[in-house]
Amino acid sequence: MSNNNFVKILKDKKLKITPQRIAILEELDKHGHSSVDDIFSLIKTRIPSVSLATIYKNILAMQNVDILKSVKTPTQKQKYEINKIPHIHLFCKVCDNLEDFEIDTINFQKYCELKSGYSDINDASILLIGICKNCQNNQKAV
Ligand SMILES: [Zn+2]
Ligand SMILES: [Zn+2]
Repeated sequence: MSNNNFVKILKDKKLKITPQRIAILEELDKHGHSSVDDIFSLIKTRIPSVSLATIYKNILAMQNVDILKSVKTPTQKQKYEINKIPHIHLFCKVCDNLEDFEIDTINFQKYCELKSGYSDINDASILLIGICKNCQNNQKAV
């Protein structure tokens, strides 16, 4: 994604366009799932005066309007990512690898609406936990 897209994303959500916010979006676009600490150390090299509190406040502001989404795994700090194509997550319980898995959860959401009586289920935050291909191969080698 280019800088112009980030400006547009912020504008569309009526958030002020600041160098910190653009920098956070650029780093998240480059690195994917990152914790507040990860983002802080990346931004610090670009904007040395930035504080952890500022980074955190900006992340929350962008999360509140759905520009960012958070991902929680059993063993890691909360991670953030840009809310792009709908996806769920795969997490390896051996090596802690976290990756995106693009599937359409619409039918699952519809099924859950019917079963639960909830309406307007329009978001699914699902973490599937298993063993990644790499770790499967390593296990075979031992
Ligand atoms: Zn693994
Ligand atoms: Zn993701």
